[in-house]
Amino acid sequence: MTDIFVSRDQLGAQSEQHNPLFVLMRDQAFATIARFQSLLVVLLLLVLAGCTSQNTGGPYRLDESLKANGKNSRIDIIVLHYTASTKPSALLTLTNREVSAHYVVSDDSKPVVYKLVDENLSAWHAGESSWYGRTFVNPRSIGIEIVHPGWARNVSGELGPLFPAAQIDAVIALTREVAKRHGVAPENIVGHSDVAPLRKQDPGPAFPWKKLAQAGVGRWFDEAAAAKYQAEYVRNGPPDAGWFQKQLKRVGYSVPESNYFDANTLHTIAAFQMHYRPELVNSKPDAQTAARLRALPTNGSGL
Ligand SMILES: [Zn+2]
Repeated sequence: MTDIFVSRDQLGAQSEQHNPLFVLMRDQAFATIARFQSLLVVLLLLVLAGCTSQNTGGPYRLDESLKANGKNSRIDIIVLHYTASTKPSALLTLTNREVSAHYVVSDDSKPVVYKLVDENLSAWHAGESSWYGRTFVNPRSIGIEIVHPGWARNVSGELGPLFPAAQIDAVIALTREVAKRHGVAPENIVGHSDVAPLRKQDPGPAFPWKKLAQAGVGRWFDEAAAAKYQAEYVRNGPPDAGWFQKQLKRVGYSVPESNYFDANTLHTIAAFQMHYRPELVNSKPDAQTAARLRALPTNGSGL
């Protein structure tokens, strides 16, 4: 664009500027240049506004002027993880190895959200996994890693380390934005342990799922209904293995249908407890676990 700007000094010597004919010609020249500039600006704006049809240089012409109505995002699951390491170590691993995630939420006092992979691309965060019968969730999910050393209990049996409140606020805001962008249903906002219960424990029982649900992110059970069911199961004894397996499947988990409490079913019960009964993760199919499972809704679109 610079070559079409002509300065007044370039158009004529100082002495000529007092000649009326010169002044007229000069003004006409400026007017022509101004019109030419306007035309160029309009053309440039048209190009920026969207070239809806273009020659690809190949054997076809690409036309993007028409749009279809039938479409949705490829993303329908959000998987939350913890890094089980410090921030520098996690960022090094997630940017240098084959494992990756779309986002990393730091544990700084003002949390930093690192965006490592574009949402349109798959990140390699979940590995072998299943949710609502969909296996290998990487291509359909967004992975969010939360910087945290990994869960443990202290000598008094208390869960920790606690996730800093500022970090959880950041996770809630980020997850809400991603869910809104892609229309992800509450029951499809899950932990790595939910989609890979035999292999994974993150984000662990210290992760405040209930707080997220109270903030409108993810799913929680109906606590009043759970109390009622629990009383019933305490009175009559908890349901059998087949019931647990059917219910775990209803709420999303991949579980055998063996009708007995095999090792995989018990692992899956532990994963359910990590999410919905973090205070007691013991793999036991007891009355309280059964009650919370029954009171857990499938209130979104499911998968
Ligand atoms: Zn993980």
